[in-house]
Amino acid sequence: MCSVIGLYNVPEAAKYAYFGLFSLQHRGQEAAGIASSDKERIHITKGRGLVTQVFDEAKLSKLVGSSAVGHTRYSTAGEDSVLDAQPIFARYDLGQIAVVHNGNLTNAKEVRKRLIKEGAIFQTFMDTENLIHLIARSQKEHLYDRIIEALGQIEGAYSLIILSRKKMFAVRDPHGFRPLSLGRLGDGWVVASETCAFDLIGAEFVRDIKPGEMVVFDESSELKSIQIFEPTPHKCIFEYIYFARPDSNIFGKSVYELRKAMGRELAKEYPVEADMVVPVPDSGVAAAIGYAKESGIPFELGIIRNHYVGRTFIEPTQAIRDLKVKMKLNPIKNVIKGKRLVVIDDSIVRGTTSKKIVNILKEFGAKEVHMRISAPPTTGPCYYGVDTPTKEELISSRYSVEEIREYIGADTLAYLSIDGLLRSVGNDLSYCMACFDGNYPVPLKS
Ligand code: 5GP
Ligand code: SF4
Ligand code: MG
Repeated sequence: MCSVIGLYNVPEAAKYAYFGLFSLQHRGQEAAGIASSDKERIHITKGRGLVTQVFDEAKLSKLVGSSAVGHTRYSTAGEDSVLDAQPIFARYDLGQIAVVHNGNLTNAKEVRKRLIKEGAIFQTFMDTENLIHLIARSQKEHLYDRIIEALGQIEGAYSLIILSRKKMFAVRDPHGFRPLSLGRLGDGWVVASETCAFDLIGAEFVRDIKPGEMVVFDESSELKSIQIFEPTPHKCIFEYIYFARPDSNIFGKSVYELRKAMGRELAKEYPVEADMVVPVPDSGVAAAIGYAKESGIPFELGIIRNHYVGRTFIEPTQAIRDLKVKMKLNPIKNVIKGKRLVVIDDSIVRGTTSKKIVNILKEFGAKEVHMRISAPPTTGPCYYGVDTPTKEELISSRYSVEEIREYIGADTLAYLSIDGLLRSVGNDLSYCMACFDGNYPVPLKS
């Protein structure tokens, strides 16, 4: 995952980018960066850590200009080093550009090999760097045409914002895997991964950038929109299940409402007699509200989350991941003691979190723990920008639901079915569900 934001014709654009990124922090906590343009040159600051750790007043004040792009990073391709923070900046024969990317290019290795063979020197391990090389090597006269030519050679998932000294370009791949929304801010424009960024900076949502569309921002006050690829929508359904913030509207729908709908479907498919519905915070909260409403079982906050700990996937080693679950979640003893609980979470990936949670709940006196997951079993990795572990590490790729139930120690375990998930999103078939159903719309090339 990752987040991107871009502002055009907005005074002190970098400050807005900073606050926008702050509200997109959930999409990536490893690194952050902003590049701005004052029309003469591009200024850039990026580094490892949270947005508030990378930037201070002094650094922000150097990012002058009325256009800016920003990024928060969650590594999917490349390594976790400062070199791999975005924006990626380059000087080339047309001047300067800065690029931010959310997604994952499925033919990146192939393209990179070819470019290296042709003499290109890479500075990072990021797939996004391919794009800069392709733009720089294009023989077209205008950046606009170079971007289109470069995009014609890359495959996979990209919500991209490209900043030149005088213009800005926002593009979504033809599948529209990752979200990208357009908003209005004063006389200027904002593009961001999620609409919650608009709320914070006072921008008004206009519409989504469409799959396969490129929007060009330049000194004329009119937007230019070009459908550069035929759209073949496969919007990531996991954005609704887990990734996006519940206060965002993604792909035209409220994340919060859809999460509740998933909880309601789950209650219809897998009812259970219990005393209370308890969410695993924060990811299970909205679905738990839906489950409670549908089942009539009271909702209780039986587990409290410590918000000052990062997400458990950030540190790569298993030992630290285990510890972090305990640091993050703690049950309220007198609420759950002696009670039959329906515990709702959005997904089981490796199984570590659920196992710990069931353990602590039982340790604290829960009488029964019925795990309900508001998504189908995650059986395959994502090639389109979500950092899921390898297939072997996904517990559902190797074990049955009953085996997983036994492993996590729950009394019962059930997952929302694929049909139930589809019902929750209004039986709209334009979503990617590959990590659940194995139908990968774009193959991964090695
Ligand atoms: P597990 O411990 O089973 O590996 O992880 C399950 C937990 O991780 C769930 O609570 C879920 O909310 C969260 N989760 C699911 N997918 C992702 C992901 O792609 N990234 C991160 N950071 N957490 C995830
Ligand atoms: Fe989203 Fe899963 Fe498709 Fe990846 S494979 S884009 S996480 S639905
Ligand atoms: Mg969670």
